Amino acid sequence: MSERTPLMAGNWKMNLNHLEAIAHVQKLAFTLADKDYEATEVAVLPPFTDLRSVQTLVDGDKLKIKYGAQDLSAYDSGAYTGETSGAMLAKLKCTYVAVGHSERRQYHGETDELCNAKVKAAYRHGLTPILCVGEGLEVRKAGNQVAHTLAQVDGALKDVPAEHAETVVIAYEPVWAIGTGEVATPEDAQEVCGAIRRRLAELYSPELADKVRIQYGGSVKASNVAAIMAQPDVDGALIGGAALDADEFVKIVRFRD
Ligand code: PEP
Repeated sequence: MSERTPLMAGNWKMNLNHLEAIAHVQKLAFTLADKDYEATEVAVLPPFTDLRSVQTLVDGDKLKIKYGAQDLSAYDSGAYTGETSGAMLAKLKCTYVAVGHSERRQYHGETDELCNAKVKAAYRHGLTPILCVGEGLEVRKAGNQVAHTLAQVDGALKDVPAEHAETVVIAYEPVWAIGTGEVATPEDAQEVCGAIRRRLAELYSPELADKVRIQYGGSVKASNVAAIMAQPDVDGALIGGAALDADEFVKIVRFRD
């Protein structure tokens, strides 16, 4: 099995303005040490309006923290008012971009087809998508979480070549666990993350599946992260609420302590 470096990514959602973003990243940078970055990749996904400030800080101080956006347009440029292109994010040296977060699927009607177009747009500009998938409560109650989530993976990766798919990050985020304080059990997380890896092996190859990082997301905190990270197919976390508290986020990054 390949050694997958865990990725802890903070999704700030629509929180922290550009000044607060600077203070927050400075606090993270001040607290995190080289040994933290060696063991775990650390990333933040601020709102679009913060990205330039974060870039300036990261570039200027040569910080090891990575950053990215929470969404991108499926198009590269043109008359798409309010949208932000992958080219613009690449110009700001973003590493990551979230695609298909459940809040985008729920409030903005994003479909698997659109997620597929966004994944391809991300790769056109050298960005690494963090593809978010996961079932709602009704699906979970019916016991269909694996089939539902795998269908989202299939849809979003349709016609994505292996040379790209081998770098994708997939975040399994059961919708009922996002922002609710209702964390999935480690076994729940493993069930679906393991199924995602097996599906990647079928869609591409076992070697590719072995390389891809699969995160869990949904009410991750310092107190529950270690048990989730102990699961063999969980390679990190996408963290919402708890990522807004720099001390808590650092504790999550240091999940082995
Ligand atoms: C998220 O925003 O992706 C998320 C998992 O949020 P929270 O950690 O607050 O549940």
